[in-house]
Amino acid sequence: MGVLINKKRCDNAEECPCILGCPAKAFYYDKEKETVAVHNELCINCRRCMITCEAGVVKVYRNEEEYKKLKTEYDDDAMTVEELFQDRFGAVSVDPKYKCDVKELDNLIADANKPLLIEFYNENEATCLVNSVPIRKILEALENKVSYRKIVVKDLLQIDKFSIIELLALILIDKKEIVYKREGFVNAQDENDLLDEIKTFNRNTKW
Ligand code: SF4
Ligand code: SF4
Repeated sequence: MGVLINKKRCDNAEECPCILGCPAKAFYYDKEKETVAVHNELCINCRRCMITCEAGVVKVYRNEEEYKKLKTEYDDDAMTVEELFQDRFGAVSVDPKYKCDVKELDNLIADANKPLLIEFYNENEATCLVNSVPIRKILEALENKVSYRKIVVKDLLQIDKFSIIELLALILIDKKEIVYKREGFVNAQDENDLLDEIKTFNRNTKW
């Protein structure tokens, strides 16, 4: 007997109510992996966590057969982190027409016939999905003089030539040169600052 958590659908919150409610202190937060987890050897199978988790991602199994069935169900679950954050927090989904593979980046820059605004993000990072940049407002602030692409970056080494150390990041490239860069975009105040900065940049730039 024990507990299985569907990590693909869990918020993995440090303040998870299942931790507080667990009478055996079996449910815990794993700081190293940044996930919730269960010490099954301590679990008394009271099912409290299963009832507490409103997202329904915690299940108690009573035997090996139930464990295997649950494990297969979780393994086969096609939910992605991107979909989870769209579902939970209304993160903005990416319009496929703006998506571009990082491998195409050099050709994209070489072939650009107008300034190119690129957003680099990691689809597995909550901050990147929840804090989607206000791209429509940015394009308006740039008077729609640029093309826009959104590129998934799994490892910053993939874009090390741009010296970016934090995602989300935006770069604007004109005639193969970076003319604007902003990284580590995180909250609403940043959004206002970003838009002010872009408007100033647009005013001061001869396109
Ligand atoms: S309440 Fe459920 S979904 Fe939220 S962190 Fe805890 S186990 Fe995960
Ligand atoms: S079933 Fe009960 S003891 Fe086991 S992890 Fe859940 S709350 Fe804790």
